[in-house]
Amino acid sequence: MSYSIEIKRQVFRIKQSKCCRFSELYGFMLACGAFAEPGMIKIAVKNEDFFEYYVSLLENICQIDLKAKYVTVKGSRQVTYILQILDPDTALPIAERFGYPDRLESFANELSECCMRAFIRGAFIATGFIADPEGRYCLELTIKDPLATPIFLEAMRKLKVNPKCGKRAGRDVLYLKSADEIGDFLGNIGAKKSAFEYANAEIEKTILNSVNRVMNCETANINKLIDAAQKQRDAILKLKGSGYRGVDESLREAAELRLENMDMSLTQLGKLHSPPLSKAGMAHRMKKLIELAANLPDPPEQR
Ligand SMILES: [Zn+2]
Repeated sequence: MSYSIEIKRQVFRIKQSKCCRFSELYGFMLACGAFAEPGMIKIAVKNEDFFEYYVSLLENICQIDLKAKYVTVKGSRQVTYILQILDPDTALPIAERFGYPDRLESFANELSECCMRAFIRGAFIATGFIADPEGRYCLELTIKDPLATPIFLEAMRKLKVNPKCGKRAGRDVLYLKSADEIGDFLGNIGAKKSAFEYANAEIEKTILNSVNRVMNCETANINKLIDAAQKQRDAILKLKGSGYRGVDESLREAAELRLENMDMSLTQLGKLHSPPLSKAGMAHRMKKLIELAANLPDPPEQR
């Protein structure tokens, strides 16, 4: 089951009062574009349970029997369940019952908060998409009726969710990309468990990011150590090539230790020295070796 369907099932048939059922059905139908063509009503969805539930809700609210108006269409991958009311004598009274389109604009303003949530929930069940929070964060509502887009935007803003609006294949798409906002949206439509999952995923990602930052920092330090050791080796090889000219015995021991143990830190090298040297003592010797090498003329280029 996709993550979207899982969430939809969580909020589908949620316990609610009568006023909310109407709003949820309206949100569902508007997002589906049920009224988008004047004089007819069409609902087309891929999920049989959602289809049957909302059609029977519509029958119930409008006191009408719609059984004869169902069709199912078998696509190449999925069946589409379609309710099509083509005769205006049936379609128009239904549209009127919802106040479509005359009272559409004022609809969001007339809604109480419980109904506003139900309205958005219906739209989400109809055409919503949500990505699994393990990956990217994304929630989308495709609105198949352009007249309804501002109403959904308004309702969501009233619930303190501020989606962005884009277009895909000529349709309006309202979308959220931050875990916080998606969590708020899910909380509003009653998907408390998933709201929690989204919040959790965000926390996990924040922790992972800071672990990565620390690791990157350590890698940078290691790279710095490697650079330093290579610089020391180059200097020592140059001195060695000149027969350690002007290099006293104690410096020479330090030089040989470095060449033999390129992977060691200065502290570790100091411990191998006899007598043992501190990190600072070893660092001083390395610095001296680099200075001496810098004063040597460069060896003639090999031909
Ligand atoms: Zn309500």
